[in-house]
Amino acid sequence: MPIYEYKCEQCGHLFEEIVSASSDKTPACPKCESTETFKMMSAFSAKPSSGADGFSSMAPMPSAGGCAGGSGFS
Ligand SMILES: [Zn+2]
Repeated sequence: MPIYEYKCEQCGHLFEEIVSASSDKTPACPKCESTETFKMMSAFSAKPSSGADGFSSMAPMPSAGGCAGGSGFS
């Protein structure tokens, strides 16, 4: 099974998690137990960043909008 690297949005903790192929949900942070984690895609096929090519294939950033302003966390 593949090991993915995750980063916690809450505390910024980096951790690795073994995820089964059928599972598509993100694990909780082992440090602060927050579920605000996202998968890092740097472990595999880390190619030199020579542009924004292929950036669209990455997972969408959760609540990364800078103009949102409000705390619309529902
Ligand atoms: Zn955390």
